[in-house]
Amino acid sequence: MTETGKVYLVGSGPGDPDLLTVKAKRLLEEADVVLHDKLPGPEILGAIPEEKREDVGKRAGGEWTPQEYTNARMVELAEEGKTVVRLKGGDPTVFGRGGEELAHLAENEIPVEIVPGITSAIAGPQAAGIPVTHRDHASSVSFVTGHEDPTKDESAVDWDALAATGGTLVVLMGVGKLPQYTEALREAGMDPETPVALVERATRPDQRVATGTLDTIVSVRDEEEIEPPAITVIGDVAGERERVVEFLEGY
Ligand code: SAH
Repeated sequence: MTETGKVYLVGSGPGDPDLLTVKAKRLLEEADVVLHDKLPGPEILGAIPEEKREDVGKRAGGEWTPQEYTNARMVELAEEGKTVVRLKGGDPTVFGRGGEELAHLAENEIPVEIVPGITSAIAGPQAAGIPVTHRDHASSVSFVTGHEDPTKDESAVDWDALAATGGTLVVLMGVGKLPQYTEALREAGMDPETPVALVERATRPDQRVATGTLDTIVSVRDEEEIEPPAITVIGDVAGERERVVEFLEGY
């Protein structure tokens, strides 16, 4: 009988290959198979030999690979004795279904290890010169999914409570529903002048940053044609960018 292999749930960081961890880089070299989607970005994916890459993200026809397929494929490969890297953008357990994949592997008695990555939730704002906390502005930070429609009754995100924290809000997957949740935050009493920044393809060579306020950011998004993947940073910390941008290097 073949000895069962192992699955590593690995975070790729936000996209700059220099921001891969040393461990992620080593495992990418050692792996028999790398299961990935598009989020790690072309600079990181391009450096992985074609013959060991399997794309489990959007298929050619535009359809998403069902999560069940990815789960089953990880188990199948490990049972063949393979060393598998399941490569995920940012950190594997921040909105990346890493938790679900971990549970599925454990249920199937597959040895699994998590390799943390630098999440775009922190590196995204940073790359635009925005610290997610700041002694003068924010003593808490919340990571929020923007994917849910706040006008739906069953929305799992409590925007009223988030507005009340007074801290920084970092919204992931939040380009499409920007109008809905900025409205929800205004209705919850957040100052319409609150600075907001959008950071698109953070840390990649084609990174773009667009800034505005809670009131203006939707038109800014439309004018600048900001598209996913992008991070929305809401809070006074977003105003810090202006003070540093002239001297900000890196991206
Ligand atoms: N696990 C990932 C998040 C997965 S959810 C992480 O820790 O970063 C997908 C969302 O992540 C995207 O919609 C976008 O909001 C964000 N994201 C990931 N990489 C990004 C990047 N380089 N620039 C901007 N946003 C990014």
